[in-house]
Amino acid sequence: MGQSLVPTATTDFNVVILGMGGLGSVVAMALVAAGIRRLTLIDADCVALSNLHRQPLYLEQDIGQRKVEIAAQRLTAMAPDGTIATHPLRVETMEQLLPLALTHACMVDASDNFATRFLANDAALASGRPLVHGAATGLKGQLMTILPFQSSCLRCVFDAPPDVQVATCQEAGILGPLVLEIGWLMAIECIKLQTGAANLLTNALLTVNLETGVRRQIALARQSDCSGCT
Ligand SMILES: [Zn+2]
Repeated sequence: MGQSLVPTATTDFNVVILGMGGLGSVVAMALVAAGIRRLTLIDADCVALSNLHRQPLYLEQDIGQRKVEIAAQRLTAMAPDGTIATHPLRVETMEQLLPLALTHACMVDASDNFATRFLANDAALASGRPLVHGAATGLKGQLMTILPFQSSCLRCVFDAPPDVQVATCQEAGILGPLVLEIGWLMAIECIKLQTGAANLLTNALLTVNLETGVRRQIALARQSDCSGCT
């Protein structure tokens, strides 16, 4: 029989979530529902009408209000015994992120841009904390879990943020159900980290294409010349 994936209520396992858009909403809801209720939410944005189809924590009545504040209210309503901290800021520097990484058991990168993704990767390496990375645009998404200096990091795979301007969700569009799919899978990685379960999604990039229905797991390996983890 495999190891239990039921989180234990007594744990002090806490998670910091970077980005409270679609992926962040879904991860937070899934974690709270699963019993992981010590969360720190980071996002500078306010709720916009165009967010609502893919960001299930927010309602039309929330438009114009800070996402982290609304998210904390909804998550607390789901689980009044939870502890939800909020940071309504745009994390752009290691000085901002490292203290948060060091005070949490796990980081979730649910951001929407490459600069933040690489910053999260580097903060994971600097703090030694595991990172669950996820991204979703259009009909395609991906995720991977990074155990610093044990498994492949983002820089092992991509080296550095691309120079080209990549379309944002706002520009490219995104299908709401894709966010649910990738977000749930990211939450499961957090639950595995909390329960100590084996078979983390490490040294692998899981890609999901909702247009074809195909999931692929691309094998990765730490690179001896990685600019991040060597
Ligand atoms: Zn690396």
